Amino acid sequence: MKRIVVLGSGFGGMHATIQLERQFRRDPETEILLISDQNYILFTPLLPQIVSSYTNPRHIVQPVRDLRGRKRFRFRRDTVRSVDVGRRELTLGSGTLEYDSLIVALGGRSETFGIPGVRENTWDYKTLEDAVALREHVLDLCEHADHTADVELRRAMLTFVVVGGGYTGVELICELRDFLFDNVAKRYRGIPREDLRLVLIEATPQILGGIAPQLAQHSRKRLDRGGIEVRTSARVTRCLPEGVEIGGQELISSETLIWAAGVRAHPFVESLPGPHDRIGRAVVSNTLQLEGHPEIFVVGDSAAALDAMGAPRVAPVAIEQGRIAGRNVAHAARGEPLESYEYKSKGMLVSLGMNYAVVQIGPIKFSGYFAWLFWNALHLYLLVGLQKQLQVATDWLLGFFFPRDASIIRRPERCRFCELESAKANAAVETPTAG
Ligand SMILES: Cc1cc2nc3c(=O)[nH]c(=O)nc-3n(C[C@H](O)[C@H](O)[C@H](O)COP(=O)(O)OP(=O)(O)OC[C@H]3O[C@@H](n4cnc5c(N)ncnc54)[C@H](O)[C@@H]3O)c2cc1C
Repeated sequence: MKRIVVLGSGFGGMHATIQLERQFRRDPETEILLISDQNYILFTPLLPQIVSSYTNPRHIVQPVRDLRGRKRFRFRRDTVRSVDVGRRELTLGSGTLEYDSLIVALGGRSETFGIPGVRENTWDYKTLEDAVALREHVLDLCEHADHTADVELRRAMLTFVVVGGGYTGVELICELRDFLFDNVAKRYRGIPREDLRLVLIEATPQILGGIAPQLAQHSRKRLDRGGIEVRTSARVTRCLPEGVEIGGQELISSETLIWAAGVRAHPFVESLPGPHDRIGRAVVSNTLQLEGHPEIFVVGDSAAALDAMGAPRVAPVAIEQGRIAGRNVAHAARGEPLESYEYKSKGMLVSLGMNYAVVQIGPIKFSGYFAWLFWNALHLYLLVGLQKQLQVATDWLLGFFFPRDASIIRRPERCRFCELESAKANAAVETPTAG
C-alpha cells in the first residue's frame, strides 16, 4: 500500500486532494490522506464581512467531511509539527506517520518585519477565529465607549488602525467603515460620529500594489471621500498597547491595531531542506517539487515556483498549483512526464465596501456599482456548495433591510477595560461602605 499525504485543507490542499482522488480512483493500493488542523475549508475572500457582521461565520466555511461526500480519501484533523525527509516520516500532534508522496499546502502566517510589539499588541487577521475575535473586540470597545465620558479615552477606543494597504487591509478597513458609520454610530447613542476614526497605514507610496496604478489612485480617492485616513510612505516603528508609532516620532492613540502587513511562510515550510525565498517560502521547480526530494510537492502560499516567483499569494494560484501537484503525483507514479506551473493572472477584484468595487481583468478595468455587483456574483459563484451560496446570498439580502448583528457572544479575552471594570467591582464587594 502506498500513502500520499496532503498537508492543509485550504485552497491548495483541498484541490490537490480532489485531483488525487480523480487520478487514483481505481487504485485500491494507494491511500490518500488529507491532514489539517481545521476540519473545514475557509473562503478567505469573505473574511472582512465577518468582522463587519455582514456575513455569518458559519456560512463561509465548508466542513471537509461534507465536501468529501462519497469520495474515498481519508481525513485526519491533526497538527503537523515536523518532517524527517530522509525517513519520509511526519511528526503529528498525535504521533508519527510515514508517507510515500507528500503535498505541502500549509499557507502562511503574518510577517512582523522585526517591528517591536507586533506580536503582543496587534490583532492578527488570517483565520476565521481571528475575524470573529476582532468583530467581538470592535463591538466590545463600542460598548465601553458608549458610556466613557473622558473624550480622549473615548476617541482612542474608537480609533481603528489597519497596518498594510494591500487588498486585505483595504477591504477590511472599508468593511469596518460601513459597519461603524452606518450601523454602530446610529445605534450607540453615546458615540458621536465625529469620534470614530479609521486609519490605514502603508509603508510604500501607494495602496493596492499589484493593481493598475489608475485603479489604485481611484481607490485611494474613494477611501479619502469615505472618511478613511490613508497614510502612505508611513513606516510603523513600534506597536504599543496604547497605539502605533510611525517613523519613530508620531503616535496614533488607538486600542485596536490590526496587522495586515505581510505574509511569511509557515514554520514547517521554513524547516524544509533546500532553498527558500526572502519570506521563507520553499523554492520549488516548475513541477512544484522540492530540490533533492521529488516525492515532496509544495503549493500555494508556501511555495515559490522557479518561473513564477512574483506570482501573488492568492487563492487562484493555490488552486491551480494544488491541481497540478495532485496530477504530478499521479504522473510520477505512472512514469509519465510532469506538468509545469506557469503563472497567468486571473485579474484583481477589490471590494471598497457597500456598493463599490474596482475590477481589473486583463486590459478591462472598471469600478463602481456594477463592479461591486460583479464582485458579489463572482464570489458567490466561487463559494463551494449550493447551501453556502444560499446562506451567503441570504445574509447579503437581509443586510439591505435590517441592521447588522451587534451581539457579543464570547466575552473578549484581551480587554483591559473589562478587566478594570471587574477589578473595580471586586474592590467594591471587598470593602463595603460604612453605615
Ligand atoms: C484575510 C484574507 C483575505 C484574503 N482574500 C483573498 C481574496 O479576496 N482573493 C484571493 O484570491 N485570495 C485571498 N486571500 C489569500 C488566500 O486566502 C491565500 O492565498 C490562499 O488561501 C492560499 O492557499 P493555501 O492552500 O496555500 O493556504 P491556506 O488556504 O491558508 O491553507 C492552509 C491550511 O493549512 C492548515 N494548517 C496550518 N498549519 C497547520 C499545521 N501545523 N498542521 C496541520 N494543518 C495546518 C490550515 O488550517 C489550512 O487549512 C486572502 C487571505 C486572507 C488572510
